[in-house]
Amino acid sequence: MTVFYNLHDKLYVNLTNLCSCDCVFCIRGGGDGVGDAESLWLTREPGVAEIRAAFDSRDLSGIAEVIFCGYGEPMERADTVMQTCEYIKSKCLLPIRLNTNGLVKLLFPCFDLSRLSIFDSVSISLNAADEAEYLRVTRPRFGAPSYAVMCEFAQEVMKYTAVSFTVVDVIGKEQIEKCREIARSMGVPLRVRNYIGNLTKNYVEGEHYEG
Ligand code: SF4
Repeated sequence: MTVFYNLHDKLYVNLTNLCSCDCVFCIRGGGDGVGDAESLWLTREPGVAEIRAAFDSRDLSGIAEVIFCGYGEPMERADTVMQTCEYIKSKCLLPIRLNTNGLVKLLFPCFDLSRLSIFDSVSISLNAADEAEYLRVTRPRFGAPSYAVMCEFAQEVMKYTAVSFTVVDVIGKEQIEKCREIARSMGVPLRVRNYIGNLTKNYVEGEHYEG
């Protein structure tokens, strides 16, 4: 069971396969493994003690950043994410990033977003420039409110840590330009990622996933 895996100089944390979205470009359908992981499919979700032990067994030499991001949306396990982040912070000085779809408030309405201040950065999948397109490409199980909730999440979390948006290039130039406008109007940097359709563990460029 792969909880941590390396890709380049990043250490990724894979805590769940659950996700409230079903993105048309989700790489989970393109392969099982990423980086040095044979498979990111979890037979069960690891507990906190297991996660800590798995982290303690990793060699951190050459690692520049820890990123919560795997074959699922990390914040499906919000409390475990927080506990794991706190543990890693207690063990090393590496910067830690959360990659998320920004829908935690729909999963856990009482979740206090100020808790995310423990992260050095939060990367949010913007994915589309309007609600209709967002629904089309991410197919969130929470439906129409999702886009507005994701944007509100970004604006709120900006109060506590560095936030950026991402889009994948397959959404097309027009959508990307509109996304740039939205990101600019909100004062959030936008990163355009290369789409990775048929992911293999030999993939060497770009980021493989946004949750
Ligand atoms: S949010 Fe991420 S994990 Fe979830 S379906 Fe979309 S790309 Fe896949």
